[in-house]
Amino acid sequence: MSSRAAMGERVLERAEHSILLELGPDSDVAVRDSDSGALRCVGCSLRFDGGDFVAEGRREMLRHLLRHEEEGEQVPRSALDELSST
Ligand SMILES: [Zn+2]
Repeated sequence: MSSRAAMGERVLERAEHSILLELGPDSDVAVRDSDSGALRCVGCSLRFDGGDFVAEGRREMLRHLLRHEEEGEQVPRSALDELSST
């Protein structure tokens, strides 16, 4: 643990990257949320360098996940619904 953990529980509550979508049997993509509102597609397979794709907002991430789906990857419907509802 870093020294930031000693600053108090608020730090823990406001985790920088909460997990929105995890790799698993239902999903070929992993997406994380951050306080700034940016969303991150972790280790994005659509990138040539395998780095993270960063979307400025939910709408952009929704479009991005649909591209994954077009490539034949599995993206949970629930995640698409959640992104399109906000
Ligand atoms: Zn991606």
